Amino acid sequence: MTGAGRFAPSPSGDLHLGNLRTALLAWLFARSTDRRFLVRAEDLDRVREGSRQRQLDDLAALGLNWDGDVLDQSARLEYYEDAITRLRASGHTYECFCTRREILSAPSAPHAPDGAYPGTCRTLTESQRREKARTRPAALRLRSDTSMFTVSDVLHGEYTGAVDDFVLRRGDGTPAYNLAVVVDDGAQGIDQVVRGDDLLTSAPRQAYLSVLLDLPVPRYAHVPLALNAEGKRLAKRDGAVTLTDQKSLGRTPMQVLAVLAESLNMCRADEPVDLLTLLERFDPRTLPRQPWTFS
Ligand code: GLU
Repeated sequence: MTGAGRFAPSPSGDLHLGNLRTALLAWLFARSTDRRFLVRAEDLDRVREGSRQRQLDDLAALGLNWDGDVLDQSARLEYYEDAITRLRASGHTYECFCTRREILSAPSAPHAPDGAYPGTCRTLTESQRREKARTRPAALRLRSDTSMFTVSDVLHGEYTGAVDDFVLRRGDGTPAYNLAVVVDDGAQGIDQVVRGDDLLTSAPRQAYLSVLLDLPVPRYAHVPLALNAEGKRLAKRDGAVTLTDQKSLGRTPMQVLAVLAESLNMCRADEPVDLLTLLERFDPRTLPRQPWTFS
């Protein structure tokens, strides 16, 4: 087997049907291309007691098996620091003392895309930095050499998006998601990233950071999200949306799998399906490009 795909949930609560659908897709993409399938717990923040294990139990209940041990980000802090050390050595970092409010109220830099960091702390002198450091802990930002980067996505084609001076390490010392993802995808040999399309705009930043760290850039597949009846992103409060909720309604995991498969145009309503059948049928070209509304 060459390469690997992955599912990387944050253990901040139970997985809902939208998350499970993304996990199913990540598994299908990986297994249908002879890749390993790896699971990573993105537990650098927002951890809820017991949720890591329940997430793994739910994946297993659907039959979504993975290779090797689950990787916990909280056990990998030294690797994120190593990456920061390398970026610092190549002149690609700077300390930032801005509060969220200061960033929002700063005039945006000319030609900068919406929401991009305006670069306020990029050009601080050493004495300005020392002065600011007396009152506030610094976040560490990437000193980016580019403002755009293009990635290749199975569903979105060539996608070009903004790369700003994004945060690598927060003021409280926590490695930022964009850094941890890139370091871990590199360490785990991930060459196929399948995840919700809310993260499509993060892909150019992450791909650019991979290049700076001499890591291969993965191929992406950003898949449509699940929505509730109001057209908002599906959430736990939207009713019986977890596997446990569904169980209490009398639905077995295999019936839930069929609901997910039907939503992906992979089976008829109430057709009994199993994962191996889905694997045989899987064809990324027939996947819906619109979000899935669950009600
Ligand atoms: N941990 C992220 C989430 O649960 C996913 C990150 C990724 O797949 O890159 O939304």
